[in-house]
Amino acid sequence: MGHDIGDKLLVEVTERMKNHISDQHTLARLGGDEFIIISPEFKDKKECRLTAQQFSKQLLEKIKNNYIIEPHHLYISASIGINVLSNRDIKVSNFVKEADIAMYEAKASGRDGVILFNDEFSRKIEKKLEIERLLHFALEKNEIKLKFQPQYNLSQRIMGCEVLVRWNNDKLGMVSPADFIPIAEQTGIIIELGKYILEEAIIILHQWETKGLILEQFSINISMRQIFHHNFIEDVKQICLRHHLKPSLCSKIIFELTETIAAADITKLIMIMNELKKSGIHFSMDDFGTGYSSLSYITQLPIDELKIDRSFVSHLHTNEQNKAMVSSILNLANTFNLSVVAEGVETSEQVDFLTQKQCDILQGYYFSKPIEKEEFEHLYFHETRSL
Ligand code: C2E
Ligand code: CA
Ligand code: CA
Repeated sequence: MGHDIGDKLLVEVTERMKNHISDQHTLARLGGDEFIIISPEFKDKKECRLTAQQFSKQLLEKIKNNYIIEPHHLYISASIGINVLSNRDIKVSNFVKEADIAMYEAKASGRDGVILFNDEFSRKIEKKLEIERLLHFALEKNEIKLKFQPQYNLSQRIMGCEVLVRWNNDKLGMVSPADFIPIAEQTGIIIELGKYILEEAIIILHQWETKGLILEQFSINISMRQIFHHNFIEDVKQICLRHHLKPSLCSKIIFELTETIAAADITKLIMIMNELKKSGIHFSMDDFGTGYSSLSYITQLPIDELKIDRSFVSHLHTNEQNKAMVSSILNLANTFNLSVVAEGVETSEQVDFLTQKQCDILQGYYFSKPIEKEEFEHLYFHETRSL
């Protein structure tokens, strides 16, 4: 609505905060839409925490009331992080940083809330920093390995696989990609890591073809940050060249993307995808149904496959709505001529439902967990021999 309206809104928010505080409080603006309120001392920590929480909840209520900034009626929410000083010997900047961390926790847990900073956050952040530090050496120390989770067709034969990364560190043990991939994305290590994963995966795809392990498709997860990197397209081409990948093999590669992209970048993403498609690469929309604009993505992006998010599949039989959701996704995919993978398939009931609904591809613990290369080969050849 423009800066003018934004400024007026901020002034009005400030008025409400001023009305809410007492003479002993200090109210300050840190910048943008971030404010700090400093309160005086309390007898003990418990009273301090309770008061801060009550104070913040009441403040939130006031901030949430509607704003009339002609000609608009506006509604906003806020996230509040609380930090208690006690007698800690702590730098001002660190103290504020801790409040900031609590504020981000409040945001992350759905906004419109109040969170008190605690030591667990510090531990979480230390763990994160530790992961970040050790991740730098993971590649050179050969700690990154790939696993492969088979994908099955309607006649329950292996037709493809998804490559899933594993990190085994001396100090941290097995770290889940769900924990280190987001950190790798934030720090940018994902560029180097992603390139390594891609190359290792492609080497194995090639080895398998020469060994007679023939899949219809071979899926690799690609982070948004990675695909937007200026050298990504060139890297992919180079890797394919280096390992003498025939076009027919290249066209088995599927890049799985998760729908976390801002609308502003859509045009650029479409360009990159189309360029990669020239080398035969296909695309799959991962975790489909959980993002906020899934529908517009499938009409805009040149994708070939949808992966129904695990959350819908795992609750197929506990929640009727999920059945309707999965059926709708399958109809939608049919309309747009996309193939569909159901991920996280764990039970025979799920298999029956999905098969009956003609979901092309199934993946999940019901069939197999992600397994090592050798185990995958064993599984595949064992199955082919029994044909
Ligand atoms: P994702 O792409 O949605 O991968 C599916 C996750 O579900 C995998 O977890 C897989 O092991 C797990 N899974 C598969 N079948 C079942 C099942 O039947 N039940 C249950 N409970 N889980 C199942 P994983 O391997 O821990 O990977 C977590 C996430 O990390 C992935 O989610 C993906 O977003 C990311 N990730 C993994 N490998 C890579 C990679 O090489 N590059 C990038 N950028 N991200 C990766
Ligand atoms: Ca995936
Ligand atoms: Ca997924």
